[in-house]
Amino acid sequence: QGQAATDTGGRTKAATAHFLFVPLMAQGHLIPAVDTALLLATHGAVCTIAGTPATAARVRPTVDSARKSGLQVRLVEFLLDYAEAGLPEGADNMDNVPPECMKNYFEAVALLSGPIERYLRANGPYPTCVVSDFIHPWTTVLAANLGVPRLSFFSMCAFCLLCQHNVERFGAYDGVADDNEPVVVPGLEKRFVVTRAQAPGFFRESAAWKDFADYIERARAEADGVVMNTFEEMEPEYVAGYAAARNMKVWTVGPVSLYHHRCGAGTTLAARGNAATIDADECLRWLDGMEPGSVVYVSFGSIARAEGKQAVELGLGLEAAGHPFIWVLRNADDYDEATRASLDELEARVAGRGLLVRGWAPQVMILSHAAVGGFVTHCGWNSTMEAMAAGLPVVTWPHFTDQFLNEKMAVEVLGIGVSVGVTEPLMYRAAEKEIVVGRSVVEDAVRSLMGGGEEAEERRRRARALAVKARAAMQESGSSHRNLVDLVDRFKAAS
Ligand code: UDP
Repeated sequence: QGQAATDTGGRTKAATAHFLFVPLMAQGHLIPAVDTALLLATHGAVCTIAGTPATAARVRPTVDSARKSGLQVRLVEFLLDYAEAGLPEGADNMDNVPPECMKNYFEAVALLSGPIERYLRANGPYPTCVVSDFIHPWTTVLAANLGVPRLSFFSMCAFCLLCQHNVERFGAYDGVADDNEPVVVPGLEKRFVVTRAQAPGFFRESAAWKDFADYIERARAEADGVVMNTFEEMEPEYVAGYAAARNMKVWTVGPVSLYHHRCGAGTTLAARGNAATIDADECLRWLDGMEPGSVVYVSFGSIARAEGKQAVELGLGLEAAGHPFIWVLRNADDYDEATRASLDELEARVAGRGLLVRGWAPQVMILSHAAVGGFVTHCGWNSTMEAMAAGLPVVTWPHFTDQFLNEKMAVEVLGIGVSVGVTEPLMYRAAEKEIVVGRSVVEDAVRSLMGGGEEAEERRRRARALAVKARAAMQESGSSHRNLVDLVDRFKAAS
């Protein structure tokens, strides 16, 4: 694997492409990066995934299972220097780093460049390409030191990236005093309106992060290409638009969650990104007992959290809507006693038709079950793509970062979403309100999503048609399949 061979032109060509993946250590970035590595490995590449211990622990079952099935993928752990960086011991993953230490964390992660390079020089095969999360700008130096190209990895849609790029390139917010003032995204054929509060740009929420945001932008502009968890047929004009705006090749390789289906990987689905806190078989039995398309799945991903009062209000809305539901409460342990008691009472009232998962759910497994008919999502891009891959319409409830633009993608571009109408971000800004969306709004949105009527049917039809296209993209000769093969072929030779 990976030894040098001579191609017909006399140039030295590695026999196998070897991708070094450097994912951001946060679930929404890590999970799709690992899936992408495994997909490349199914096409014959060797992949090394670099991570910190807490990160590696989360994806080890998935990687181990892939290795057992014969894929050439390895997970290598690198320790941060906590003391030197002023970080609490073990703070090596974005969700266990105290917010006030975030800068120290990014500085400490950047110092992994040397150890990663030394590891790769000592432990072959030598990499032929670095695929790094766009929030790791320091990998520019790593790739240069290794003498190989670097691709930026995005688990985002091209629509979102192009909107953000155009807003910055054309200075759309210049002179706009109010963060909530509507601004038209420049340079697009169709009209989309955003506010700076909703789409400030990556790390541009506060002036304190300006240098880091600029560093990320420089690294993105200098990349040798882009790997994106989306698929071309869904947004051809935006994929082409982003490639043109950046003047670089874009490989769309999604929906990457479909990796787990093609491998029939039951166990890896149940432990994707974390061990689930609900038994997978129990969950499947519960779903088996429900009518096809009757269950609504509710989750806000791995970072966003509903404050206690908002959680209770959401629960009451779900109860009133009357449809069976699975509701993931990531941070249930943080709630005060009164909130916990309200949730327990609610759980008792909806017993048999409402399943509360406190912790981590096997999301893709649930979404793929025929009983599920809709998804209330915070519009993280992975969740949005997973809904699409499963052919599900969504209720959109964005919280921060790219989620407002993803909502536009689901509602305005694809017509598969019903918005709950949130207009301001909830995190990374002051607006941590207790109740943002009332129970009747939740009830109406869920009824509209799950109910009958021409509009709801039309949304379902569009979602199902999108799933057909998504699956086709990943199949032999589909666009994402072709791009994966092309990546493996193109990066056989270290340039
Ligand atoms: N996820 C999961 N179980 C959970 C919560 C999240 O499997 O209980 C997965 C989900 O399937 C997705 C990822 O975690 O792949 C979350 O990424 P997303 O972009 O949707 O949101 P983020 O967590 O980045 O806000």
